[in-house]
Amino acid sequence: MDKKIFFIAAVVAALAAVIIYNLYSIVSLKQTVVVNNLPVKVKDIAENQIVPEKKDPITPVPVFGLPLEQAEERITKKKFGQYITSQNSPVQPEKFRGYHTGTDFEIFLEELNANVPVQAICDGKIALKKTATGYGGILVENCELDNQLITVIYGHLKLASIAKKAGDTLAKGEEIGILGKAFSAETSGERKHLHLGVHKGSAVDIRGYVQKEAELANWLDAVRNMFL
Ligand SMILES: [Zn+2]
Repeated sequence: MDKKIFFIAAVVAALAAVIIYNLYSIVSLKQTVVVNNLPVKVKDIAENQIVPEKKDPITPVPVFGLPLEQAEERITKKKFGQYITSQNSPVQPEKFRGYHTGTDFEIFLEELNANVPVQAICDGKIALKKTATGYGGILVENCELDNQLITVIYGHLKLASIAKKAGDTLAKGEEIGILGKAFSAETSGERKHLHLGVHKGSAVDIRGYVQKEAELANWLDAVRNMFL
């Protein structure tokens, strides 16, 4: 082959290679890639070495377990902090008056004559298990929430169904017993439901209602630490 033609061909081929390479670079630099879950232009990384900081996603984690199956659907009557009177109460007739210190979990229609198991919402130790006016069977558990001592009040339980006694430990999710029978001594004459209260500190205060709104500060809304 003629040396001159070969040289020209080589130069043309080299130029073509350079042009193709540059075109490819321009196109590819405009592309975005995903770095640490964020889209970044390849160009930015190539020119500035910018790599976005990885941010930890904030994922709320429910701390408390569910006291009953399908717990969220059961909150249809008295919520935490609600001011109840005989006139405005969703429960009629109503004998209580005051700020509700807990959350009520209702039963489904088909559960009226069925055993409805109640589970511990946290790991803890049983502080109290007795019959109390306004509740029927009640169990109080000492737990911790964010390194703070709390007591959890489970009201309207069938006391005879609770195998464990004061001083025994409960694990989160463990079955405590079953709900008391509707309008019987097991519920202190109330409808069949669970009253769940969370009181700050280790002192036992089983009041289901307080008369001053400021007193609610001694209780916590369990639901806020239960669902996502
Ligand atoms: Zn209640």
